[in-house]
Amino acid sequence: LSDLTHEAKISAANVFDLAAHALHPSVRLGVTGLSRAGKTVFITALVNTLTNGGRLPLFRAYADGRLIGAHLAPQPDDAVPRFSIEEHLKALLDERRWPDSTRRISELRLVLEFASETFFGKRRGSTFLTLDIVDYPGEWLLDLGLMGKTYAQWSAATLAQSRTGARKRLASDWHKQLAGLDPNEPESEAKAKASADIFTAYLRAARQARDTLSALPPGRFLMPGDLEGSPMLTFAPLDIAADSEPRPGTLQAMMARRYDAYVREIVRPFFRDHFARLDRQIVLVDVLAALDAGPDAVADLETALTDVLEAFRHGTNSWITSLFRPKVDRILFAATKADHLHHSSHDRLEAILGRLVQRARERAQFAGARVDVLAISAVRATREALARRGKSELPVIAGTPEAGEQSGDKVFTGEEEIGVFPGDLPADPEKALLPGGYKGRADGGEGDVGILKFRPPRLETGPWEKPVLPHIRMDRVIEFLIGDKLV
Ligand code: GDP
Repeated sequence: LSDLTHEAKISAANVFDLAAHALHPSVRLGVTGLSRAGKTVFITALVNTLTNGGRLPLFRAYADGRLIGAHLAPQPDDAVPRFSIEEHLKALLDERRWPDSTRRISELRLVLEFASETFFGKRRGSTFLTLDIVDYPGEWLLDLGLMGKTYAQWSAATLAQSRTGARKRLASDWHKQLAGLDPNEPESEAKAKASADIFTAYLRAARQARDTLSALPPGRFLMPGDLEGSPMLTFAPLDIAADSEPRPGTLQAMMARRYDAYVREIVRPFFRDHFARLDRQIVLVDVLAALDAGPDAVADLETALTDVLEAFRHGTNSWITSLFRPKVDRILFAATKADHLHHSSHDRLEAILGRLVQRARERAQFAGARVDVLAISAVRATREALARRGKSELPVIAGTPEAGEQSGDKVFTGEEEIGVFPGDLPADPEKALLPGGYKGRADGGEGDVGILKFRPPRLETGPWEKPVLPHIRMDRVIEFLIGDKLV
């Protein structure tokens, strides 16, 4: 019953949100993506470009000269950490280094001042839009599926998955340990802890198969946030049937209890208190890393995108899930780090992500929010140049590799600028997605897109005479996410 009262309070809070929106226009923008996708860099660059006036020709309010300014405002939710914007801006702008990545949820409030469009020929003066940016690990989204599963169902599915494809090898230590466990043996803290450790090591290994995808729930096992080392994370699957019922006092009963607590205390509050309150969402995806890592990683990416769309799917019918149903009406999928490619490949990158999202949409039977896809670079670390090779001139991208990056025998110092031939993406997106269709590095192919890490660029002076970061297509991102709110 207390759960019910709590849910009722929350839906009352959502109604309150709605009322507040009507009085004072505001947008809660979720920024998510798996670890290293580029969330921290994106938010930092977004704030820089809006507050300092970057080059944003396709952001209509800005192009019309109606954006008057933007400033940070105090954090609205006292219980949520603030996004460390000052620290991150200092890293990117002053120190020319990439900021520390997202490890937990955080928020930031930005207020945009703009002149509304002429209304019956008269200007209505300046208006404000509050933009609340919510940064959270994409790994946490994958937990949504746990809300509808029992411990036994989750165990059986996770184990079955770990016995297929490339995962099988990565899971071998865990499988060995599991073979020595009897679900009906008496409960044991030591065994639960050992199982959780070895299971987490498997999840990490699967995720790190070249720093790409393959994120499997529970999301907090990969991105614990403030729960690092918490007993709530001390459980793991057992080799049991999906309909198996635990006997009291057994190891299985103990694991099931902890799994239920994880879902009740961590997963549900996240969806209720954060996810369900979002208005707009951007999902950042490192498509280049997946392509480079090979077809398994691309297949995993498609699964992850399907899971994300499942999370945003409208039209669930149980009353509980309907309370968690997001009111998100726009979702943007952005392929990040497009500055690793020549501009002629940006459309190709976009087409590949577009095809993946379309397939994920069909699989998730997604309907509801407006979805768009863009290839972007929140911070453009390279510029385009021409390099002479024999008699011909070839397009290259030039940038400063980070200190310690290597190419052949050469180790870079972080100071010298070099030109590299960017990898070429296939013109036909299907070709990139078929197994063996596009050979990334993992397949011994020629794909070497996005391998070298470049330092952040030197700053430019924007039209407002303030330092701004160069970018690719951030104006289109902003227009899609909030353009309609600035009219
Ligand atoms: P997060 O884990 O999603 O918060 O990822 P970050 O925002 O910390 O980005 C991870 C890394 O990706 C950064 O340290 C950069 O090396 C790289 N990166 C992110 N965005 C860009 C971009 O727009 N251009 C380039 N060249 N690199 C980027």
